[in-house]
Order: sequence, then C-alpha cells, then structure tokens
Amino acid sequence: MSTIGFIGLGIMGSPMAGHLVKAGHDVTGYDIGPKGLEKLKEAGGSAAASVAEAVSDKNVIITMLPQDEHIEQVFPEIVEHSVPGSLYIDFSTITPKTAKWTAEQGKKNGLRVLDAPVSGGENGAINAALSIMVGGSEADFAAATPIFEAVGKTFALVGGSGAGQCVKAANQLVVGGTYALVAEAILLMENLGADAAKGLDVLAGGLAGSKILELKRETMLARNFVPGFRIDLHHKDMGIILQAAREAEVSIPMGALTAQLIAAGRAMGYGSLDHSGLLLVAEALSGRGEA
Ligand code: NAD
Repeated sequence: MSTIGFIGLGIMGSPMAGHLVKAGHDVTGYDIGPKGLEKLKEAGGSAAASVAEAVSDKNVIITMLPQDEHIEQVFPEIVEHSVPGSLYIDFSTITPKTAKWTAEQGKKNGLRVLDAPVSGGENGAINAALSIMVGGSEADFAAATPIFEAVGKTFALVGGSGAGQCVKAANQLVVGGTYALVAEAILLMENLGADAAKGLDVLAGGLAGSKILELKRETMLARNFVPGFRIDLHHKDMGIILQAAREAEVSIPMGALTAQLIAAGRAMGYGSLDHSGLLLVAEALSGRGEA
C-alpha cells in the first residue's frame, strides 16, 4: 500500500481520492477550497494545509487539476518538497508539452513521472470505472498499476512522456466532433418531420452508432444539458488539440471547425452546460430553438 499526496479534490479528484482510501492507501489531500478536503476526511483520508505538507514523505503524488497553468504553478512545489524516487501521476487533462516538461523536470530531481489523463466523466470517477491513457516508462506504469486499478477499469501505457495526453487529445477530438454531428442529425430529422427519437434509435444500432448516441440521445432530445462535462472544459481541451496539431505540423480541419462550434457555445453563454449542449449551437445557426 502507498502513502499518497493527492492535490485537486474537485468533481473528479474527490471520488478518485475516496476510492484510493477504500483500496487501503494512506491518502493526504490538498485543495485550495474546503469542500474536497472535508469529503476526503469523511472518507477516511487526511487534509493537508499546503502542497508541501501533502507531498512530503509520500511515495506517490497525484494531481487532478483543471489545466496547464495549475500544473505549472503546483509542480515546482511538488519537486521541491517530495522525496527523491517517489512516483508522480498527473490525471489532469493538459497539453502534451506541459506533460513532457514535468517529466523532464521530474527526472532532473529524481521524481518518476507519468501523464495519465482519464476518460469516463464524473460517473466514471464515482464508479471507479475510468479509462486511463498513460505516458511514461514501463517500470513506472507497472509501479502505478495498483493506483490505476483503484480508480479505473481500462488503462494502458500508450507511449513515452506526453503520449497519454496525445491520446486524450484524440479522444476529445472524436467526442467533440461526434456531438457536433449528432446535434446536426437531430436538427435535420426534427425539421424534416421525421420521428427523431426513433431515428436516433436506428442510428444507434447501425454504423453511425456510438457511445454518445447510446448514452446521450434521450437527454439531447429532451434538451437536458445538465453536466456531465462542461462546454468550458471542452473549450480548454480543443485549445490543447489545436496546439498539439500545430506542434505535430498536421492539419485537422474537422477539429478546427469543432473548436469554433464549442467556442460559439461558450460565447452564447452555454459554457456551464454539458457539451451535448452543442445542439443549442446547431439550432442557433439555423435560427431555431431559444437562442
Ligand atoms: P474541478 O474544477 O471540479 O476540480 C479541480 C480542483 O482543483 C478544484 O477543487 C480546485 O479547487 C482545485 N485547485 C485548483 N487550483 C489548485 C491549486 N493551485 N492547488 C490545489 N488545488 C487546486 O475539475 P474536474 O472536473 O475535477 O477536472 C479536473 C481535470 O480532469 C481537468 O483537467 C478536466 O479536463 C479533466 N477531466 C474532467 C472530466 C469531467 O467530466 N469533469 C472528465 C475527464 C477529465
């Protein structure tokens, strides 16, 4: 069993830290807000008053923070206060570039670093059923396996440092693009007089089928956009995707278009809605709906 310092106890981090306690690990958490710390204490973990306190003397350090700037802010403190040889796992979704930077800085300071972004949303975190895409070395991946088993169902080493974030970017590209197309399909069917609910049932059972159609077609038709995964966070992820494509010198026109649709949703005031709220953007572009 590990001693774990867990930084970032929000929507995702809070249930993940709870599962690690349940699995028998000794978990100390830190967050700038009180809510996650209270929940961790209720779950049987301890609360630290600073990053330094959370990470000193731990053999595993975990972050689950919103974006690059938070990792850039917290990581130097982790390096400064952690024990050489400890394992650092970043579950946040950030750019491959920042993930590689943590790996390089970590290596210089004796920290073993894995980038391990997750997919599966809040439900996946609550049910310990996340998919985890991991970048780093085979030895560190093997050492982290008990941690991944406690919070996820599917996990794989997908390459060296930063590769986990590359795969997560690809995941978000497909998810965003699929939502944009499902939204247009709904708009088309509803405005041509077809039964959109039955139509989506048929689509879900054929080649057009997807997890998104399976899980979200009913809530989309009902215009229920309670998150889930917020448009604001997907907007952040589209920025990561476009930056990664630029660095790789590849052209992703569908990704660029999806990024603009998500940006439009945000500009229309839908940032705090679920990303299936792209249906509202599709409606607005056709002068339909409430927008
Ligand atoms: P969140 O905003 O709910 O949680 C982030 C937590 O980090 C907050 O509690 C915040 O107070 C804390 N925090 C911010 N700065 C801090 C600092 N300097 N020190 C300590 N704590 C700090 O976000 P979330 O939904 O849990 O997402 C976390 C990451 O997981 C993001 O990168 C997101 O893209 C990714 N993700 C989210 C989902 C989802 O469905 N919510 C799914 C997959 C991946």
